Amino acid sequence: MAQDTVVTRRQFFKGGLALTAGLLLGLPKLCAADGGMPRSPEEAKGETAMHYLFDRTPIEPVQVFDNLFYIGSISVAQFVVRTSEGLIMIDSGWDEKDADYAAESMKKLGLNPADTRYILITHGHSDHYGGAQFFKEKHAPAARIGMNIVDSNWCSVIPPEGAFSGVRPEIDLELNDRQTVTLGDTGIFLVLTPGHTPGCLSMIVPVTDHGQKHSAAIWGGTGTPANLEMNYLYLSAVDYFARYTAQYKVDVEMSAHGWVDGTFARLEELKHRRQGEAHPFVIGEEKYRQYEDVFRGMAKEAIDKYKKR
Ligand SMILES: [Zn+2]
Repeated sequence: MAQDTVVTRRQFFKGGLALTAGLLLGLPKLCAADGGMPRSPEEAKGETAMHYLFDRTPIEPVQVFDNLFYIGSISVAQFVVRTSEGLIMIDSGWDEKDADYAAESMKKLGLNPADTRYILITHGHSDHYGGAQFFKEKHAPAARIGMNIVDSNWCSVIPPEGAFSGVRPEIDLELNDRQTVTLGDTGIFLVLTPGHTPGCLSMIVPVTDHGQKHSAAIWGGTGTPANLEMNYLYLSAVDYFARYTAQYKVDVEMSAHGWVDGTFARLEELKHRRQGEAHPFVIGEEKYRQYEDVFRGMAKEAIDKYKKR
């Protein structure tokens, strides 16, 4: 098992997809839940990123907003959005184990997995798509799995074998740029943001906190890619998405990789939040723009690096 893990990580590095994650937001101060987790891009590269990306320790499922739930593991999360006509899951974890844990977590939160109508996948890396087919077959037969066509043709999975290959789901629904997936009273706005993968989708989700409206963004792919051209794409995709995060007045930032943005400290803070205290995930429009700047910086740094080669 340990041997497998080592090989897998090597393959991952070979693929050149090492995450340059770790996004400093000036978020609530560290607490025990974060341990030694990265707090800035400088801290979260290479081995550090790999350590957390492959940490499959399950987390306690948390209701973050009235209609949004965060479940999964240290490695990667699934978001569940509750609507008036069922549930929407965003991303699906690595595999069958994650799919089963997602179902268990949903039940713990008082949600019925069988009410899931959509499983929306941000991109073609198996930490995001690998649980989808299992979740649908075992727990949510009425769900339709959606993904952008560029990634769902599976040509864009890099490397083709190794750390980012999982059971590829059958895609029921083709998701496109600037499409709104609507279920009941809720519409999730999708934006094609190529770079991390060619068909990567980022999403804007309307949320409420004790009835108060907010707008949450999920940037689909964290790490910058391993070549010059894709980093140009990544950079322009940040600007492109920023048009819509401005239009939708995004003031909430959430990441499927909780170890890049202080998610676990914030989830912990949320547990102890008293009435009237600020919501740790509502960072405001200004801070959200700063968060986008972190991605711009990462892409520019990568462009400089690959230009020199
Ligand atoms: Zn990825």
